Amino acid sequence: MNRDVLINAVYIIAAISFIFGLKMLSSPATARKGNLVSAVGMLLAVVVTMLNKEIISYQWIGFGIIAGSVAGVFAARLVAMTRMPEMVALFNGFGGLASLLVGWAVYHYQPSVNVFTAVTIYLSVLIGGITFTGSVVAFGKLSEVITGKPVLYTGQQIVNAVLLIGAIACGVVFSIVPAANYPLFIVSVVLSLVLGVLAVIPIGGADMPVVISLLNSYSGLAACAAGFVIQNNILIVAGSLVGASGIILTNIMCKAMNRSLSNVLFSGFGAVVNSKAKTSVEGEVKPIVVEDAYYILEAARSVVIVPGYGMAVAQAQHVVRELGELLEANGCEVKYAIHPVAGRMPGHMNVLLAEANVPYDQLVEMDDINPMIETVDVCMVVGANDVVNPAAREDESSPIYGMPIINVDYARTVFVLKRSMASGFAGISNPLFYKNNTRMLFGDAKQSIQGLVSEFKNS
Ligand code: NDP
Repeated sequence: MNRDVLINAVYIIAAISFIFGLKMLSSPATARKGNLVSAVGMLLAVVVTMLNKEIISYQWIGFGIIAGSVAGVFAARLVAMTRMPEMVALFNGFGGLASLLVGWAVYHYQPSVNVFTAVTIYLSVLIGGITFTGSVVAFGKLSEVITGKPVLYTGQQIVNAVLLIGAIACGVVFSIVPAANYPLFIVSVVLSLVLGVLAVIPIGGADMPVVISLLNSYSGLAACAAGFVIQNNILIVAGSLVGASGIILTNIMCKAMNRSLSNVLFSGFGAVVNSKAKTSVEGEVKPIVVEDAYYILEAARSVVIVPGYGMAVAQAQHVVRELGELLEANGCEVKYAIHPVAGRMPGHMNVLLAEANVPYDQLVEMDDINPMIETVDVCMVVGANDVVNPAAREDESSPIYGMPIINVDYARTVFVLKRSMASGFAGISNPLFYKNNTRMLFGDAKQSIQGLVSEFKNS
């Protein structure tokens, strides 16, 4: 068989496995297998690409594979679940940088390209550069190396718009006569890197997961452009899939927060929150101790557990599952209600609960739990805050007004497990803590639940 035909045939198999893998990722039951199917597809694509006769150095490719694999295995093993969004940010950033370098390398060795190739080179460099520095800034904000607050200044959007128009103008000039415009190309590389920084600094840390998802989409588009530059079909397909899935995910996250993408990108959410946060709270806080909480749980016939970011911080998912099993053994119906943006990345809670082997059929989505929540005896809020904040429903002046929440305050009794009265990621107070039917079980979520588990075991 002709070598090119073989390569493209395997690329088709790889592309099919990407699509099936993505489809399988949509359910927790098949997600692991989906990941594996896509990874095998990628391995096939990489292996068959080695047959390409234009490959210059197998040594360097081998070196890259070994260095990348070692770094990847270490990063994946060492990173804490709470730090996963940062890792994804870096992955996106390096994807963008790779596309930039591919575009640059092709242009460097072959400056006299046709207009189409010049346009694709420019796009891979521009989008790749923005993705790289934008992701590095997102990483810095999430890991608190730089301030998570929006960095705002007068005329910011005009400066960004002027730079973007400048970059597009450079792209037009470059694409018409690429060979004569190396200095302009270098200016464009610098512009793209600056644009990435300037586009992300005005966005608050709370919105970084949305930004990361958007940058993920950009990294796909940059890879797709790079695929056109080197005429590699699988890079075009994989880049398009990443580009499309990233933008779909971004859209889902915006909807779950009841915000538009432009609001996320241009409103400087964290700054607005601090100045507007005036949710007035009435009532008094009623703390509860583990022993008393146990008596209420022991008598409950239905319990809904609502996990949030604090469960990830406390790494409480295993004891939560243990408590769920003990409640069930006690004749209680147990469900886990998952808010789409609970935690710090989409699916964060699903991943943690799956890791702790919580049965998938006990996971209930927000829209399915809310209609039945009034019949629930106890809602246990484990380290969640913003996603159960009734201000989103009741207080029109609240910055999160309109965001869909899990209506835990409609349950007969609510336990809130957290360490203090501190606010959540959005930085606003939560009237739930002051409601008549709410009891605050203060302390690290893992320790509190361990206490409850011991009470059940010793009774
Ligand atoms: P929040 O960030 O609102 O609240 C988490 C709570 O956990 C805190 O109030 C904290 O209180 C508590 N906590 C922290 N550590 C512990 C611990 N060891 N034990 C017990 N409690 C602990 O989390 P939510 O999940 O409710 O909301 C997620 C937020 O992130 C939303 O604002 C959402 O919009 C935002 N976001 C999420 C995205 C996603 O994809 N998931 C994307 C974009 C934004 P205390 O310090 O008192 O313990």
